[in-house]
Amino acid sequence: MGKKKYEHYKKYVKDFNNESILDYLGNNIIIKENYEHEAIELMDSITNNMNKQFPYNITAGAITALKQAHFAARNGMVSAAFENTRFLLERLSLVKIISEMKTENNPYEIAIEHLEWHQLIDKKFIIYGLQQFTGRIWHYTGEKYTPRGTTIFLSGIPLCGNHSKAYAKYSRTIKEIEFETGISIREKCAKCGKDAVRFTISLPKAGAILGMLGLYTGHDVSELGKFYGDYSRVLHPYGFYGYPGTYLINLWSIDFIRLGLKLQKILF
Ligand SMILES: [Zn+2]
Repeated sequence: MGKKKYEHYKKYVKDFNNESILDYLGNNIIIKENYEHEAIELMDSITNNMNKQFPYNITAGAITALKQAHFAARNGMVSAAFENTRFLLERLSLVKIISEMKTENNPYEIAIEHLEWHQLIDKKFIIYGLQQFTGRIWHYTGEKYTPRGTTIFLSGIPLCGNHSKAYAKYSRTIKEIEFETGISIREKCAKCGKDAVRFTISLPKAGAILGMLGLYTGHDVSELGKFYGDYSRVLHPYGFYGYPGTYLINLWSIDFIRLGLKLQKILF
């Protein structure tokens, strides 16, 4: 898929690039132009790319979210339309990161597949932002190192044999990490202060996921961050249930084309 293929979509959105969805929804501004057909074309193309490049079970969630976003938009459901679009953005960023990490049995993928993500978060295995992710890893590897393989576990928490017992799937031994990186690591267990033998992964919050996407792709992701923020504002605190439902598909199509153009550039 060449980049050129998507250039022509720019003409549909060029008159709409200065306003965010919040401007339209908040002021009840109606868009008369209907580019649903073009949006569907782009949906299909992005779906094909997702299936091809991210062959994980958890990619299916992103594809379903996109279908549901479109369905909700057609049916005038503002909140559901943009909630699903936000999910697409988040899940797609995550599978891209996973594909770049080149880590066998990637713990992010497993945590979602096994529905154990929230349990690790409840145990405070959390990365709140990119700097926390890189900070912990670069502490051992030196700056500018792009974490792949077992190195990603250095973003987690060092634990002794006893305290890491429950997290076998979500941790790696320090020996493995040392072997792969050639770095020597001495750490104490974060719970009891004994010698640590494993690192247990920490899972990224949404803000960290977008930041990590920037790290792994080398792209500026601030515009994607703006999309994410706008979608979040629809859900909380505004809702925008007063927006005329029949015109939602027009707004959603333009917004999705704008988002899709950014995604194409960064992800595929
Ligand atoms: Zn311990």
